[in-house]
Amino acid sequence: MVGCGPAGASAAAAAARTGCAVLLLDKRRSAGTPVQCAEFVSAALSLDAVPWAAVTSQPIERMVTLVEGREPRITENFRGRMISRARFDRALADDAVAHGARCLTDTAVVSIDDDGGVRLSNGAEVRPRVLIGADGPQSRVGAAVGRRNTELVAARQLTVPLTDPHDATDIFLRACYPGGYGWLFPKGPFANLGIGVEHRRRDRLKPLLDALRAELTAAGRLAPGSATSLTGGLIPVGGRLPVCARLREVPVLLAGDAAGLTNPVTGAGIESAVRSGTLAGIAAAGWLAGAAAALDDYEEELSSLYDASFARALRWRRALEGAEPGEELLRRAWISSPEYWSDRAA
Ligand SMILES: Cc1cc2nc3c(=O)[nH]c(=O)nc-3n(C[C@H](O)[C@H](O)[C@H](O)COP(=O)(O)OP(=O)(O)OC[C@H]3O[C@@H](n4cnc5c(N)ncnc54)[C@H](O)[C@@H]3O)c2cc1C
Repeated sequence: MVGCGPAGASAAAAAARTGCAVLLLDKRRSAGTPVQCAEFVSAALSLDAVPWAAVTSQPIERMVTLVEGREPRITENFRGRMISRARFDRALADDAVAHGARCLTDTAVVSIDDDGGVRLSNGAEVRPRVLIGADGPQSRVGAAVGRRNTELVAARQLTVPLTDPHDATDIFLRACYPGGYGWLFPKGPFANLGIGVEHRRRDRLKPLLDALRAELTAAGRLAPGSATSLTGGLIPVGGRLPVCARLREVPVLLAGDAAGLTNPVTGAGIESAVRSGTLAGIAAAGWLAGAAAALDDYEEELSSLYDASFARALRWRRALEGAEPGEELLRRAWISSPEYWSDRAA
C-alpha cells in the first residue's frame, strides 16, 4: 500500500486482518502530520479503531451558510465532530500495525515500473502481488496506470483564536471564491478558517483568506492574536476515477483521494477514504485468496456507494462554472438548500 492516510491505513488493516503480508509506505515522517485538513467528520462516521474521546476536539450541532455575507441560514441537526486529524490518522495507522501490517514511514515511492515493481527513496525495490494506491490527490500509483485527478481545488487554512465558543460549521459562499468556498470550523477556543478555489486561481488564496480573517475579526468573531498554524492542500473535485487496473500481472487498486473520492461540492473525503480503503484491502485479500471477481466487485461497490451522489454534486459544480454565479445560484448549489437535493436539480 502506498500512503498511510485514512485510505491506506484502512486498506492495510483490512488486508492484514485476513492474514495477508502488508507493507504500508508513506513519505511522511509520521502518519497524519503535518495536518492538511479542516478536520470535520459527520456523526455517521463510526470506527472501532478510533478512540473518539481522545480524537474529538468538539462536537458540531449545526451548519450555518452565509451567501455573500448576507443573513446566515441555519441548518439544524447537521451533526458531526471536529477531530484532531493527526490523532485520527495515527489511530488508524496503529490499528493497521496491530493487525500485522508493517509500516515504513519517511519512505517515498519514487517510481513504478511497467511490471509493478516499486522503487523507494531508500534505494530498495519492492515487488508487490497487489498494489494499492492510497497516495492522495496527486497519486503516483494512479499516474502509473493513467488515472489522474485533473480537476482540483487548492485550499489555504489558518488556525485562529475565536472570541466565543461556537458549535456550527460556518460556510461562506461567494462569487469571489470560484469553484470553492470559505469555512470556519470551531475547535474549542480556536477555529480552522480556510478557503478553497479552483486550482488555476490559487494565487488569489492568500489575499482572500487575509480579507476573510480581517472581516471576521472586525465583526468580533475572531480574537486578535496570531494564527497557530497555516496549512493547505489539494482536493480532487472531478469525481470518481476507475479504481482497478493492472501493471502486467499485478492488480492495482486506487482508494481515497487517489481515486477521486472527495465530494465535488463539499470536498469532504475522510469518510470515503476510510470506506474505500477498507473495501480495497478486502478486495486485495480476496483476490490473493483466489476470488477472481474480487477486483470487479470493488469497482462495483464504489460505483453503487458514490456515483449517484457525486453525479449530483458534479451537476451543481458545472452549473456554477462559466459566468459569475449570482446569490441565488450560490445558495441552491450548496448542500443546505432543498434545491440541491431535488431530482430536478441543476
Ligand atoms: C485543506 C483541506 C481541508 C479538508 N477538510 C476536510 C474536512 O474537513 N473533512 C473531510 O472529510 N475531508 C476534508 N478534506 C479532504 C480529506 O483531507 C481527504 O479526502 C483525505 O485526507 C483523503 O485521505 P487519503 O488517505 O485518500 O489521502 P491522504 O490523507 O492525502 O493520504 C495520502 C498519503 O500518501 C502519502 N504519499 C503521497 N505520495 C506518496 C509517495 N510518492 N510515496 C509515499 N507516500 C506518499 C502522503 O504522505 C499521505 O500521508 C480536506 C482536504 C484539504 C486539502
